[in-house]
Amino acid sequence: MRIDILTIFPQMFPPVMGEGMIRIAQENGLVEIKYHDLRDYTTDKHRSVDDRPFGGGPGMVMMCGPIFRAVEAIEAQSPVPARRVLLTPQGQALKQALVREIAKEQRLLLICGRYEGFDERIRIGLEPLEISIGDYVLSGGEIPAMVVVDAVVRLIPGVTGHPDSPVKESFSEERLLEYPQYTRPVEFRGMPVPEILRSGDHAKIAEWQKEQAKIRTARRRPDLLS
Ligand code: SAH
Repeated sequence: MRIDILTIFPQMFPPVMGEGMIRIAQENGLVEIKYHDLRDYTTDKHRSVDDRPFGGGPGMVMMCGPIFRAVEAIEAQSPVPARRVLLTPQGQALKQALVREIAKEQRLLLICGRYEGFDERIRIGLEPLEISIGDYVLSGGEIPAMVVVDAVVRLIPGVTGHPDSPVKESFSEERLLEYPQYTRPVEFRGMPVPEILRSGDHAKIAEWQKEQAKIRTARRRPDLLS
């Protein structure tokens, strides 16, 4: 998979993309991530990417020109067509099902907004998939883009150590939250590990985990069960 990220702050990404699973996935050639500075696609001496909104109102709006030029130039770098993704609070809510969908793509182009958002013709002309990471407003699309990359990369086959780990976790196909997990020590500050997990009876353990997942989901996220 190739992921291109278009942003006015490309320097925000390497520290995050350079650690953990995302770093290893890149080192193993499972994903290639490239950052593109939107200001490289400007035409004036101030390298402007934003301008005042028609009709008035507060703040600035991201202009069409630099984004269209950048998208066309970045897409031309490889013959594989890119799925264009606009990060915006007005987009489709990011859920694990959507992550699974976009993880199937061979190429993603993530476009990060700033200021008050995008000129509407960026939506009309580029027909991107619009994704929101939640019902709150951030100052830019960079952190949402990192969220998308992190969620997607760990689903690429070969990235997680155990092939089952993305299957048996919260929001997986079973639509249950994950069951409680424990590791050593057996007792910590008076809190023991449930006896059953140390019984070695795999069928019983699986039954207990399923039951716990249901209880936890019913308490915390009843919406997932309906
Ligand atoms: N005025 C806009 C918000 C702009 S926030 C509105 O009312 O909808 C500036 C940029 O941050 C957005 O263009 C988007 O790229 C990013 N952003 C902010 N919140 C986000 C969210 N919840 N999900 C995805 N992107 C977000």
